[in-house]
Amino acid sequence: MIGDRIPLKTFEVPTGTSVFDWTVPKEWNIRDAYVKGPDGKRVVDFQKCNLHVLNYSTPIRRTMPLGELKPHLYTIPQNPDLIPYRTSYYTENWGFCLSHNQMLALKDGDYEVCIDSTLENGNLTYGESYFPGRSADEVLISCHACHPSLANDNLSGLTVATLLAQILSGRDLRYSYRFLFIPGTIGAITWLARNREAAARLRHGLVLTGIGDQGRFHYKKSRQGNAEIDRAAAHVLAHYGESSEILEFSPYGYDERQYCSPGFNLAVGCLMRSVWGTFPEYHTSADNLEFIQPLQLAESLRICAAILDVLENNRRYVNVRPYCEPQLGRRNLYRSTGGEAIGAEINARLWVLNLSDGEHSLLDIAERSGLPFASINDAADLLFQNQLLSTVEEESKLGTVRGELSPENMFRRS
Ligand SMILES: [Zn+2]
Repeated sequence: MIGDRIPLKTFEVPTGTSVFDWTVPKEWNIRDAYVKGPDGKRVVDFQKCNLHVLNYSTPIRRTMPLGELKPHLYTIPQNPDLIPYRTSYYTENWGFCLSHNQMLALKDGDYEVCIDSTLENGNLTYGESYFPGRSADEVLISCHACHPSLANDNLSGLTVATLLAQILSGRDLRYSYRFLFIPGTIGAITWLARNREAAARLRHGLVLTGIGDQGRFHYKKSRQGNAEIDRAAAHVLAHYGESSEILEFSPYGYDERQYCSPGFNLAVGCLMRSVWGTFPEYHTSADNLEFIQPLQLAESLRICAAILDVLENNRRYVNVRPYCEPQLGRRNLYRSTGGEAIGAEINARLWVLNLSDGEHSLLDIAERSGLPFASINDAADLLFQNQLLSTVEEESKLGTVRGELSPENMFRRS
């Protein structure tokens, strides 16, 4: 479905491939799974909800008494109506997930247990979408695609990333953009292991997840802590008008853990609404399409676009008339009647003129002035058109990157 909306290339990485300290696991496929009660009726049915099977369960077809089945049943006693989402990726096991009430209703007797799955050599599949910009320097947007049926903790990131890619598509872009749709953890590790040259070109990045619920925004900083993406996200959220929270980096969470591992130390943060594990719907059947809302998804998309807008336009200028203020009135860039308070637009122009010394970026100016980046950027555009600013040539990172494509250089440089 993502491939119907944006150009998507899929990659298959065979089972057994070494990826840093990990190995691409066997491929799991499932056709059906159920538990049939003593009366022959399905009491747990994969066809009704695919969360009912412990993900990665090995195949089984056997009849057993309830006492033998019970250690393989997973429930949430404190939320007795919800079906948990559970996985067993690296320990071969089988099991069923069901609501606690469903389990309590099971009577003693013999149960027919069937998991019609295969766990065999195959491939890890991931999708990638690339939008070339004027620079080979890249912005990464990464989201996980591995939690079946979960809406906030899976689908919301995929949705917003896809729409963001549609917005970028066909535009004249400063940066090149890479979107990754990958299984969590092993997908990011696999991508990084296979793409060390591309990883060396990543300048900024966002992991998108859990951004469809009604909670307020949370941005988790990159390991660097004060990277441009961290500042851009904090700036956009500070001017968003609703409360939000900036979280310090921690080595637990989503795939920023891999991008921010010390060998890479990439400037990749994580944008969320409610933080994983803090809401009762997390990793349960209640994280469904009713839990995420179109309005919240749209606002998340808007925040992402605003962050990318900062990255795309954040540059440095030089005030070509730095000795005293240039006469703005003569250029029709000031109020016509003296005495009244200056407007926000004129204030933005004064800030840009004052701090454009070739050292301060527009984001620096926005932060110091307290004005939104868009106002500062508009002011800079206008002053540039009026020949009051000149641009600072950005050193061509392109050439640098090309000369340093080998992984050894990449790690030396970082
Ligand atoms: Zn999760």
